[in-house]
Amino acid sequence: MTIQWFPGHMTRARRQIQDKLKLIDVVIELIDARLPISSRNPMIDEILQGKPRMILLNKADLADPEVTEEWIKYFKEEGHTTLAIDANTGTGVKDIPATAKLLFKDKIDRQIAKGINPRPIRALIVGIPNVGKSTLINRMAGRNIAATGDKPGVTKAQQWIKVANREIELLDTPGILWPKFEDQNVGYRLAVTGAIKEEILNIEDIAFFAIKYLVQFYWPAMKERYGLEEPPKDIDNPDEIVAIMEAIGRKRGAIISGGRVDLEKASSILLRELRAGKLGRFSLEAPY
Ligand code: GDP
Repeated sequence: MTIQWFPGHMTRARRQIQDKLKLIDVVIELIDARLPISSRNPMIDEILQGKPRMILLNKADLADPEVTEEWIKYFKEEGHTTLAIDANTGTGVKDIPATAKLLFKDKIDRQIAKGINPRPIRALIVGIPNVGKSTLINRMAGRNIAATGDKPGVTKAQQWIKVANREIELLDTPGILWPKFEDQNVGYRLAVTGAIKEEILNIEDIAFFAIKYLVQFYWPAMKERYGLEEPPKDIDNPDEIVAIMEAIGRKRGAIISGGRVDLEKASSILLRELRAGKLGRFSLEAPY
């Protein structure tokens, strides 16, 4: 799903989240483990107004595990409580309630000491489109509650979903945020993962961006899959990147009349294979 964000949408999305903040104790900020910064809302700190928060690196099953470890360290150094998860299969999801409770440990301990039964912690999931919010809500609920592909601006009655032995109550509608569009590389990273539609950016440009990154950081996987010989000598020479795109096209039989490579088709094949995990796990940005 792709949303065209305009200032009015952003203001409305922001207001919707801020209305929900009044109801909740903790925000669960969902970002994509492959591109944690690019899949983040640039105004998140301001929007959350100091609400306790945990950061979840979702789709960790698709990301480079070593880079994910670095990101966890990075966010911890920034003072955030952070977990890597895979909402699709549920890996890491069972640790969310205990981690949320840790944020309120002092308060809960005080209540227990006074003989008060602590009330459930109320949580809201927020994140940009396609990051996995609905998948996570359904996974935590253990049943289908949130329709994947929720639209901003669509209002319905909100409900609390009781999870983790009723110790956590999760709002069934997530808060939808927008990514940082002004930076073109952010747009490309999101497009490589399929988080934004290919029609918005040129598919050959998206593939070009992907190839340039992959040959630098995941050369062995590229070499093996597409039978490539040598990595580019000068990564900043566009001709060398296009030559790799052509090699991919030839390998996959994407040829047009006259024997030229169909670059659009080669691009589409590369992106499809990459997203399907055929080149292995990859991350598109690293913290250090
Ligand atoms: P939302 O727009 O944030 O609610 O995102 P969705 O929950 O609709 O998920 C978007 C897509 O990402 C769907 O195709 C999900 O199956 C997929 N997805 C969500 N979480 C994960 C995950 O942890 N790993 C993988 N591989 N795919 C995921």
